[in-house]
Amino acid sequence: MPIKRKARALAENLKALGVKEIVTEMEAAAIIERLREAGATGGGVMTPGETLRGEAVIVEKCRKCDLGSQRTHSVYGDGTECADVLFVGEAPGAEEDRQGLPFVGRAGQLLNRLLEQVGLKRSEVYICNLLKCRPADNRDPLPEELAACRPYLDKQIAVIKPRIVVCLGLFAAQAILNTKESMGRLRGAQHKVGDTFIIPTYHTAAALRFPSYKQQIYDDLCRARDLAYG
Ligand code: SF4
Ligand code: URA
Repeated sequence: MPIKRKARALAENLKALGVKEIVTEMEAAAIIERLREAGATGGGVMTPGETLRGEAVIVEKCRKCDLGSQRTHSVYGDGTECADVLFVGEAPGAEEDRQGLPFVGRAGQLLNRLLEQVGLKRSEVYICNLLKCRPADNRDPLPEELAACRPYLDKQIAVIKPRIVVCLGLFAAQAILNTKESMGRLRGAQHKVGDTFIIPTYHTAAALRFPSYKQQIYDDLCRARDLAYG
């Protein structure tokens, strides 16, 4: 991402979090020390990165649905909080559950290849899922699991404030666009939620089974890239 855009995004995030001035790390340490001495319990001095890291710790302890006690690791998300493009998948698979990172299995490797082909870097986007814990045997997410987990995604969107959200697969597309439409219909249309462009596309796991989807995902990623940097 161009450094200027990155800086602007970071400044906007900080401003939204109530940050009024930026200080050096040493000054910050002194301020935090003073706040502690004054009995402050935190808040007001958090960067977006710290907010997301804090959320990830909360998610690792979450038991709001049954998946919490069945997982190996929760999978909160990966990437930069300054991302212009946010990718939302469905739920962690076996490899993601093992590593605690999203899209690191076969579907993730295909996503990496497609990102590289369109010139997007994984380190300059943010990738997460609707569900932060793996459903056993990769079954479909249940409505109650989606509802229980949704606030974590909403928080990620609120902190990152992506300009573009790419929905990987029908579950993500339907959840983000609050619809029951088919992927065939959703892909063909322009979508915006507030100021954010929403791009529904096929899941890379589906493209492993149906290789013709690869071209369509590629085309959709080109559109995301052009909207972000064009
Ligand atoms: Fe909590 Fe979401 Fe995991 Fe359910 S899937 S336990 S709501 S983090
Ligand atoms: N499929 C998903 O939807 N998410 C992952 O993280 C991996 C596979």
